[in-house]
Amino acid sequence: MNCEICNGNGWFKQANYQLEIMEWVQCYDCLAQEKYLEELTEKTAKLINKSSAEKLSLLLAKYCVNKIESERLETMLNEKNFVGLMSFLEVNIRSE
Ligand SMILES: [Zn+2]
Repeated sequence: MNCEICNGNGWFKQANYQLEIMEWVQCYDCLAQEKYLEELTEKTAKLINKSSAEKLSLLLAKYCVNKIESERLETMLNEKNFVGLMSFLEVNIRSE
């Protein structure tokens, strides 16, 4: 869903009649939407925070099992590749 004002760029060109130039202006619709989503994220995180680390770990583990090829996951586990697993989660959950 692209913004009608800035076409999803976050900025758009607008005429400045005083200086007689076109200038880039930040799109306040998108800025407001971004801020709103940030607030939603914070509120959601606060609620999820009531859960236990074990429960969250299990939830994320299920996600990994569903998304990563078993053989590759096994290798990561055998190598105790924590950094690799965490970056997999970060990249994939963000792009969902
Ligand atoms: Zn916009």
